[in-house]
Amino acid sequence: MRAMVVNNWGDSFKLENRSDPEPGPGEAVMKVRAAGAGLTLVTMRTGVFGGEAPRVMGHELGGDIVAIGEGVTNIATGDRCAVYFYLNCGYCRWCRNGRETLCENTGGFVGVHRDGGYADYICLPAGNFLTIPEGLDYEGAAIAADAVNTPWHCMRERAKINPHDDVLIVGAGGGVGIHGVQVAKLFGARVIAADISEEKLELATQWGADEVINVREINDFTSEIKKFTGGKGVEAAIDFHGAPETFQSCIDSLAVAGRAVVIGAHPGDVKVNPINLILNEQIVTGSRHSSRAELIETMEVMARGDIKPVVGKRVHFTEVETLFQDLISQDLLGRGSLIYDD
Ligand SMILES: [Zn+2]
Repeated sequence: MRAMVVNNWGDSFKLENRSDPEPGPGEAVMKVRAAGAGLTLVTMRTGVFGGEAPRVMGHELGGDIVAIGEGVTNIATGDRCAVYFYLNCGYCRWCRNGRETLCENTGGFVGVHRDGGYADYICLPAGNFLTIPEGLDYEGAAIAADAVNTPWHCMRERAKINPHDDVLIVGAGGGVGIHGVQVAKLFGARVIAADISEEKLELATQWGADEVINVREINDFTSEIKKFTGGKGVEAAIDFHGAPETFQSCIDSLAVAGRAVVIGAHPGDVKVNPINLILNEQIVTGSRHSSRAELIETMEVMARGDIKPVVGKRVHFTEVETLFQDLISQDLLGRGSLIYDD
């Protein structure tokens, strides 16, 4: 099979021929039909997530199961499947209580600690394959499996969005943020979208944002937020970019009982005043990907058309490097999508 390989972390992708994978006991092999690409992968490719290289990356995937190993009962050959990103144990208390991204015995991530799907075929533990519901195509399922399930978990479980909330979304025009706008609207919130270009803000408006802020054209972020909210601030501020300065703006923009949630990850420190937290009962927290159950829910909501995949660019998977360059230069609107041969 063809595979896009990172030989050492930090290197570009190289096209290589590898033998087709065979499933061991408890594993299955999927013919990849669609894949997504986002900034998380750019960060992973630097090596900061650990894992050993050479590595085939790619974890947002849709395809067809073509072989199953001994003892596999949850899926069968011919099933259309999406891939769950985390390689978890399945039996620790976090895996059992629906917070499996906190697994005590984590095996890492698909495409980092085990070969991913920027290749014709991928072999994984069968439990990492989830059936795609009728009405959702391979590309939609691939995008569901990071760009939609991540904001779904964030908005519902961490930010606890209510219909009367004003919600600030920082990085609203990016691959995850644009689906975050749709999730927040689906939960009934009023959305204030912030990003760095008019194109990204137009995209956010197109997908439901009620107000927009171009962060490159304002001096004082917090006073802009106050202006849009009658002086009270936002009930939830979600930071998909995750730089210390953007997350600080999120914290400083909170209303009484507001929740600031960071999803994007850049190292650094923010200032939190404990008196504000006490007097206003504010919450400053993070959100981590989603559970399998949340990915299933996300795909079902997408299958009925309530959230749509927003794709900025499609290239063949052997040209994934060009998509990475667009991600690095922040030129991509929405999600990057990879196409595969039939
Ligand atoms: Zn576990």
